[in-house]
Amino acid sequence: METPSTPDEAEPATDFFKPFFTFILFLSLMACTNSGKKPGKEQALLRSDTGYITDEKKPFVNAKKKNSKPKKKIYLTFDDGPNKGTKNVLDIVQDENIPVTFFIVGEHVFASQGQRHNWNRLKAADNIEICNHSYTHAHNRYDRFYELPETVVKDMVKTRDSLLPETNIVRAPGRNSWRIDSLRYTDIKKSKLAMDSLQKAGFIVMGWDLEWHYDHKTFQTQNTADEMLTMIDSAFAKKRMRYPNNLVLLAHDQVYHSSADSLQLRTFIQKLKTRDDYELALVSAYPTIRKHQSITDTVRAVAPATDTVKPIKTDTL
Ligand SMILES: [Zn+2]
Repeated sequence: METPSTPDEAEPATDFFKPFFTFILFLSLMACTNSGKKPGKEQALLRSDTGYITDEKKPFVNAKKKNSKPKKKIYLTFDDGPNKGTKNVLDIVQDENIPVTFFIVGEHVFASQGQRHNWNRLKAADNIEICNHSYTHAHNRYDRFYELPETVVKDMVKTRDSLLPETNIVRAPGRNSWRIDSLRYTDIKKSKLAMDSLQKAGFIVMGWDLEWHYDHKTFQTQNTADEMLTMIDSAFAKKRMRYPNNLVLLAHDQVYHSSADSLQLRTFIQKLKTRDDYELALVSAYPTIRKHQSITDTVRAVAPATDTVKPIKTDTL
């Protein structure tokens, strides 16, 4: 019959193995110390070769922290070109090498040789996206224009078919309305049916979150570059935007025709570029548009253009 072992019986066994365990522990400690030392020497050599003098872990941790924080996106958009200000805007954004989106008015492309030339420059430029801002700009008579949703759709289709077959991103003239999947906003309710019709016809309607205002009589900006930067910071801080951490900024080409306002634009861009927390992007990269494009690329079907839209004379807003 087996007798259960008692604590008294176990004690001697522990005493017997104690020196053995101590020896194993000593060996393990030596092994750990050595395995830690060898790479340490290599790291020290690497650091001395590359000029690093601090703990190797620190730069890695800092880099990880820096990269893990996503940047806030700003979409810089210019409306109503090509017109007298387009050349200056294009020169500046090309010099500064930033991505910019132009929402153009179809009829302005054909209004003069100079504007045609600017249109060709826009098309040839790198880092530039061109989107649709209608054909007639409603002749600046918005209430009447939006009373007829079918005419609004035809006006967009005309610019798309004649100039911009590659994009279905539009901005409604004189209205800050949005139709991107479930992102829907109508600033003036009378235009609701027209905006719905644009979306039904396959267009993505993009408004804006913040505007660089200008005097509509003198065509001079009403905000300096510094004021715009403050307004942008405030919009992000107060989350005044349709989609979190993505701000669409509206400006107008024509305003930057003057050298004083051109300088403000250049200053604004240069200061924005120094900000590590912001990143400029093209509107096709706007979160809901990217998602929408992948869904609807294959189902774009818009009615053909007609000639029912009368042309306007020149580069009005
Ligand atoms: Zn406009």
